[in-house]
Amino acid sequence: MMICHDLYLLDALVVEAKQLTKHGKVADYIPALKLAKADALSAAIYQGQATCAEAGNVEETFTLQSISKVLTLALALMESGEEAVFSKVGMEPTGDPFNSMIKLETHSPSKPLNPMINAGALAVTSMLKGADVEERLARLLGFIRNLTGNSEINYNEVVAESEYDTAHLNRSLCYFMKQHGVIDEPVEQLLELYTKQCAIEMNCKDLAKIGYVIANEGKAAETGKEIIPLSVSRVIKTFMVTCGMYNASGEFAIRVGIPAKSGVSGGIMASVPHGPGIGIYGPALDDKGNSIAGMHLLEAISKTWNLSIF
Ligand code: GLN
Repeated sequence: MMICHDLYLLDALVVEAKQLTKHGKVADYIPALKLAKADALSAAIYQGQATCAEAGNVEETFTLQSISKVLTLALALMESGEEAVFSKVGMEPTGDPFNSMIKLETHSPSKPLNPMINAGALAVTSMLKGADVEERLARLLGFIRNLTGNSEINYNEVVAESEYDTAHLNRSLCYFMKQHGVIDEPVEQLLELYTKQCAIEMNCKDLAKIGYVIANEGKAAETGKEIIPLSVSRVIKTFMVTCGMYNASGEFAIRVGIPAKSGVSGGIMASVPHGPGIGIYGPALDDKGNSIAGMHLLEAISKTWNLSIF
């Protein structure tokens, strides 16, 4: 995987994939996300020590949205262990959109099917430990600062508030799960933490670094220090393969074949096992809520450097 020797290629792939942005649409159900530039596309590939390839405006920041689900799952597994976490959330893909409610009602027991859909992610966030929202968020931010080596990482207050004010579908998922004993805490408190978690902000270089740690058995590139235990990094990578691109995960596995997670802000984080981490930002989305140009770019990256795990 000698990506660093072919740097100029990433530029060409980004220029080509950028054409697709005009066929996508930025997310608008969270009002603050409407402000994103629809034609933006940036990408960074990190292989340890330095960002080895980058293209587009890689300094542009964006919020993690659903990419944060991978990180809260890792933290919850580290804090509470597999048995406790999977007593509240399942391990199976749904084939439904990320914010769907239907399986909560039709699937028995009524715990969410997996931690990558909104219902499952809300259940996982509810497990995060700490005395109050502030302390739980601080623990999560500390974990993410550790993963990126960037102590400046924080959440975007405007995006968090914008989502909190309009998160009626997520509120209904929470009330349903509260009725069925999946979550315990007050719904508004959980939504405050969840919307702040989703609004954690970084650029695609930081995102590539997180992807790298997950790809490399949880060890930091610079120090080799374990940040995520091997067993946890294995679980989250597996979820990235089976559920990471929502109800496009099957096609993505065939076309790209790299564990990855997307968010409605247009971010995608990918982790090539024992290889590079990849961070992409392209806010124009396809009809399933994945970055339209980002998906195309990852397919091109995978094919160019033969990165599929299959
Ligand atoms: N914060 C978003 C939501 O809950 C995250 C969804 C996503 O990125 N798919 O709707």
